[in-house]
Amino acid sequence: MGFQHPSREALPRHPLIIGGTREAAGHGARHAHVYPGTGGITAEIALADAGDVDRAVAAARAAAPAWRALPGDQRRNLMLKLAERMEAEAQALAPMLTAENGSILIAGPHMGADAAQKFRYFAGWADKIEGRTIATWGGPAHDYVSYEPWGVVGIIVPWNGPLFAATMVMAPALAAGNCVVIKSPELAPWSVMRLVEIIHEAGFPAGVVNLVTGGADVGAAMVSHPGIDKIEFIGSGATARKILANAAQSLKPVGLELGGKSAVLVFADADLQAAARRGLSGAVSANGQGCVNGTRLLVERSIYEPYLQMLCTMAGHVKVGDPFAMDCFMGPVISQNALDRIQGMVRRGRDGGARLLCGGERLGGDHAPGYFLPITVLADVAPDSEIARDEVFGPVLVVTPFDSEEEAIGQANDSSYGLGAYIHTQNLARAHRVAGAMQAGQIQVNGSGEAMTPCVPFGGMKQSGHGRLGGLEGLREFQQVKNVWVNLAA
Ligand code: NAD
Repeated sequence: MGFQHPSREALPRHPLIIGGTREAAGHGARHAHVYPGTGGITAEIALADAGDVDRAVAAARAAAPAWRALPGDQRRNLMLKLAERMEAEAQALAPMLTAENGSILIAGPHMGADAAQKFRYFAGWADKIEGRTIATWGGPAHDYVSYEPWGVVGIIVPWNGPLFAATMVMAPALAAGNCVVIKSPELAPWSVMRLVEIIHEAGFPAGVVNLVTGGADVGAAMVSHPGIDKIEFIGSGATARKILANAAQSLKPVGLELGGKSAVLVFADADLQAAARRGLSGAVSANGQGCVNGTRLLVERSIYEPYLQMLCTMAGHVKVGDPFAMDCFMGPVISQNALDRIQGMVRRGRDGGARLLCGGERLGGDHAPGYFLPITVLADVAPDSEIARDEVFGPVLVVTPFDSEEEAIGQANDSSYGLGAYIHTQNLARAHRVAGAMQAGQIQVNGSGEAMTPCVPFGGMKQSGHGRLGGLEGLREFQQVKNVWVNLAA
């Protein structure tokens, strides 16, 4: 019974890479990695400790002056070489991505190719770091602004898409001339471990990128470390609060990419088939554990029931199962704890009057040893209920009807989060009007994830964080602004 378990042989073996040296063990706790497709242990990892963080920071600081001084064309060429390596490794990376968190194997090569695209895009900025001059007031002067690296950037990423998150930060940070200390999350450690190996195989100088694998204690040691100039954190709001409290001691800047409860607005004039297919991706993408998944569906009342019917029919065709199988479109959630939390939220949603249309029950049979929940759709969900307001982080969609554009906008914005919003309509004026009214960092019109490309800025409003990754805005996150005033008075 049960599904294929990852082979230990195919997984990276170095949880630390410090100053270019691969290390087989950290000095911290031992962690048994659990594969969510079977509930079995894949491997034991000796995690890093605060002393290992010290060594990683020292290596980054030692490498920083030369990396910062390297001419932009050489940084560009290294990053382009890395992009080529990532592309060549995309197939090999796929089983590691599945092994670390149960993400589906067929999506793996795309994730490798996406990582390559990020390095390629930001390589294009590495040789174009330019300042500007300012026409001054109040006397003859020459004034200019230059954009300088912070120095050493600490990167903390979550388990749900570690490679995606790591490369989304690392590419602009490196292009801007920063060195990096990255923490691979202990719950899903393999892809970032391999990424840092590939970076060295591509010829990056020792110490420019340093890896520590570990949990909360290692992240906290990075945040409090005086040798790290800026932290970029991708994860939950609860952890962000602890990180900000920690960073308050040193006044260290912290970029935050946090969770969401992104609204999907489906107007009666939408292409319903496409809107249902795209609506479903909010439950399927990353096995329902994507920060920007559209999980809060607001549907115009005149098409409410037909839309729900379409959504559930399509949900029935999504094969949930062994993530290593090539015909599988959805895998497990990360852990038993996550499953319990999600099912508890679904139960309370139903108790509060929501109508369960499909899913809700853990899968048995071959699925039983793993943490599998099918696509779960709850309709008639009260906008002020827990399941409508809080991030579920599982394959659960909540649906609520609306009667007017104004009501839809009001409901969509009535959230403490503001990461993404999705608008389905064929009315061009409405699309722009509603996009303009949305309180979210990334709006997609008739889309469901296509905007997650490195050339556009991504990030949240409200409790979904601040700062942007991607595009020129993403580069600016990893630059400090310096102004120079030269008095020209005789
Ligand atoms: P989490 O906040 O529990 O952990 C994130 C990372 O922080 C992990 O590496 C963890 O080890 C580390 N950490 C935990 N406590 C720490 C501390 N006190 N100091 C420093 N580091 C600490 O989040 P998670 O469960 O791994 O990920 C899920 C969350 O991440 C969801 O809320 C999701 O929406 C969010 N997320 C956001 C984005 C985005 O780009 N906006 C992307 C992916 C995930």
